[in-house]
Amino acid sequence: MNEKLQDLLLQSLIDQKEIFGDELFETKNLKRRTSVEFEPKIQQSEVVKSQKEIISEKILSSKNENLKEIPLIEEPKEKWQFSSNLDELNKLICECQKCPLGKTRNKFVFGTGNPNADVLVVGEGPGADEDAQGLPFVGRAGKLLTDILKAINFSREEVYIANIVKCRPPANRTPLPAEMESCLPYLNKQIELINPKVILCLGLTSALGLLKKRESLTNLRGKVFDFGKAKVMVTYHPAALLRNPNWKRGCWEDVQLFRKLYDEMAQLK
Ligand code: SF4
Repeated sequence: MNEKLQDLLLQSLIDQKEIFGDELFETKNLKRRTSVEFEPKIQQSEVVKSQKEIISEKILSSKNENLKEIPLIEEPKEKWQFSSNLDELNKLICECQKCPLGKTRNKFVFGTGNPNADVLVVGEGPGADEDAQGLPFVGRAGKLLTDILKAINFSREEVYIANIVKCRPPANRTPLPAEMESCLPYLNKQIELINPKVILCLGLTSALGLLKKRESLTNLRGKVFDFGKAKVMVTYHPAALLRNPNWKRGCWEDVQLFRKLYDEMAQLK
């Protein structure tokens, strides 16, 4: 066997080991591969095709084997998933330690407002004031939110306010995707119980968490999305408006549209 042929054979064995582990099979393909140098082009593409086929067959057969071996078992439901009202849900989840934020929080921030609200406002997560008081949007950003709601004729008492995550991320950092995924089922249950007509997402994290859309805030603003039976709109987070007052005008336009959407939805009663 000449040196080139040996190299090809060795490379082929390495490739197989990378893909299939220690199991060696389909020696006929090895032979084909070694013949590449003598039968160019057409033979090469056949070799590649054949390798792909082997991989797909391997994956398919392993999938089928797994399907046969593992019966489909539904994950057992947790007690909180059967909650019939918000108070019950709050009691059942307020000690949650499902993600690392549970260890660093001071207070769990469930949400607050009218349990039968037609309007749900969803922020990102508790900040320092919220973490200290156990209530959402109570700091400067909270006051601005109250003003924004007032400007479109909603009182805080008639809406419900919650966050994507219920525990404060350290140093007010953005919640990590895994933390949001851990916490979102709670918000989904809240939405199921409240059954709002319209939802206003405050900030990109809130919109990404709820709508699962990988888009910029600019792209999301001014549009109406479906979330179950509710309609969703997106605007700036009040904390962002405090840092960038120039965005207030855009926010004003967004919430005007949101109010219009609410009025239209209310007429459909
Ligand atoms: S952020 Fe949510 S999932 Fe994480 S510990 Fe707090 S309540 Fe549990």
